[in-house]
Amino acid sequence: MTRIGVLALQGAFREHLDTLAAIGVEGVPVRLPEDLENLDGLILPGGESTTMRRLIDRWGLREPILRLARRGAPLFGTCAGMIVLAREIAGGEAPVLPLLDVTVERNAFGRQLDSFEAELAVPVLGNAPVHAVFIRAPIIERSGPEVDVLAKLDDGRIVAVRQGNVIATSFHPELAGETRFHRLVATMAAEHAEPGEGSGRRPHPTRRSRA
Ligand code: GLN
Repeated sequence: MTRIGVLALQGAFREHLDTLAAIGVEGVPVRLPEDLENLDGLILPGGESTTMRRLIDRWGLREPILRLARRGAPLFGTCAGMIVLAREIAGGEAPVLPLLDVTVERNAFGRQLDSFEAELAVPVLGNAPVHAVFIRAPIIERSGPEVDVLAKLDDGRIVAVRQGNVIATSFHPELAGETRFHRLVATMAAEHAEPGEGSGRRPHPTRRSRA
């Protein structure tokens, strides 16, 4: 069975675990480096990215998460999780896990508009719009050439992206009963766990000479 970790240091991790349970995928709360062993993917939830950064460093999670990503396991960051995955944070804060070639601006919608909801077209998830909940959300100001834009607001601002095995959204699908992002991540995780011939992390049978 596919096992997907949810970084459970802080923030809205419970809702991600519930969403995984709702689609029949085993969700594993991740607090320590050893919790990352034998995972097929990892979700980085919303919350507060400065606190999350501190806790990631306190528990020594940076390197093992980067290793998981480099092995090709899918990573999915929502809101603060997206900030944690960005290569660049506007204003000069140092990046945390610079896996996505984007520049994010934190709290991009200002104080007046703390949170809002929108119906978003996300073509990779099918025709039905995504009900997106934005809470003190970041925006993607710049995205690099390797980055696929998955969704934009009506004004053209980018709010969901994918770069290879890394997906990120400015908003919280897990707070709106939206399961399609998690299904996509689970599909990617299953492919990662059971790759086609000649690739991946499965132990190879001992190679013996046929001669
Ligand atoms: N404003 C938060 C931050 O900058 C993100 C908010 C969220 O995750 N809902 O870290």
